[in-house]
Amino acid sequence: MSDSSISQGAAITLNKLTKRYGDATAVDAIDLNAEPGEFLTLLGPSGSGKTTTLNMIAGFVDVTEGEILVDGKPVYALPPHKRNMGMVFQHYALFPHMSVGDNVAYPLRQRRLPKSERGRLVADALNKVGLANLSHRMPRQLSGGQQQRVALARAIVYSPRVLLMDEPLGALDKKLRDSLQLEIKRIHAELGTTFVYVTHDQDEALVLSDRIAVFNQGKIEQVGSAQDLYERPSTIFVAQFVGESSLFHGLAVDHGAGKGVLSSDRTLHAHRGDARTGAPAALVVRPERIRVQSIDGTAPSGNAVRGRILQEIYLGNSRKLEVELGDGSKVLVRESAGDVTANRPGDLVWLTFRAEDAVVLTSNESPDRPQAADDHVPVFASH
Ligand code: ADP
Ligand code: MG
Repeated sequence: MSDSSISQGAAITLNKLTKRYGDATAVDAIDLNAEPGEFLTLLGPSGSGKTTTLNMIAGFVDVTEGEILVDGKPVYALPPHKRNMGMVFQHYALFPHMSVGDNVAYPLRQRRLPKSERGRLVADALNKVGLANLSHRMPRQLSGGQQQRVALARAIVYSPRVLLMDEPLGALDKKLRDSLQLEIKRIHAELGTTFVYVTHDQDEALVLSDRIAVFNQGKIEQVGSAQDLYERPSTIFVAQFVGESSLFHGLAVDHGAGKGVLSSDRTLHAHRGDARTGAPAALVVRPERIRVQSIDGTAPSGNAVRGRILQEIYLGNSRKLEVELGDGSKVLVRESAGDVTANRPGDLVWLTFRAEDAVVLTSNESPDRPQAADDHVPVFASH
């Protein structure tokens, strides 16, 4: 505790970490690691096992199977207060009868630090969260955002080597959330502490994280940087949970180096993919990578699918088109403001995209989904 400003973050390793409640598996044999000083986010929908994982790391929830290592050492024998981890929750009630300064000093009193040192560390922590002048206020005199800053100051005041946060901004309105996100990012960079951060908000995860672990039903679907997840999703779940995706359903077919998928009109090509040949698959493209083109004239070369524009959504800096395909499925196309075409709802159009922007992924959709490619029945009659 000699230098409060730098605490080198710890490495965290989860090996086959599992939590069962009766027959239900909340966390299912996950493998995950955080590098020293990394900002690692656990992202996933409600009920996917994020909080349970965080609480096992903190020591609040017993591990059913597997292990947690901090700097290579198992921590199962350590109670929460001996793990040297700070925690911030969505509703981390401050002690209402204590001033801001006393709240932040609390963990130091628990650790029996001398008063002189406490004062310095409290001032330092409040300074880091931008509340240097509010030490004498009572919690009820603070806004929600300020209260969360105090909770953050209280969590970092004893320079823990790991900071665990569970939806700390979940109760705040969007504007405040956005500004606190940037503060948390700044504080992380300043401290060098390892952050493990839980959120169900993909935008928040993209803003904050060095790497993101995407949770689904107690398992991790993919771990990677924001860019990895966005540009190289390895599952359809990730493609749909992180950003928006347009899916073209069909069967995977082999095309040498790359992969293609049979879709409603013709074979579509993608440069990457994991789907087994012959298996139900979806070709996944980001909506901003799809171009819309009038159906008059000759069919475009390369990847092209016919559809009908159902509706247009104006978004200021872009517009989104919802397009119905021949098999009845719907996809999204995003045109940026400078690039808006003249196509309107009701129009029959070609959707085109580059193979480089597409990936073919295994689908859980039932294989008996209508395959227009086989019957080749044009669903949209020409007008
Ligand atoms: P998340 O934080 O991603 O929303 P949780 O980790 O809270 O998800 O929960 C994961 C699953 O474990 C959920 O199905 C939840 O109902 C279950 N669960 C969590 N805590 C308990 C508990 N104490 N007893 C029984 N089931 C629980
Ligand atoms: Mg939770």
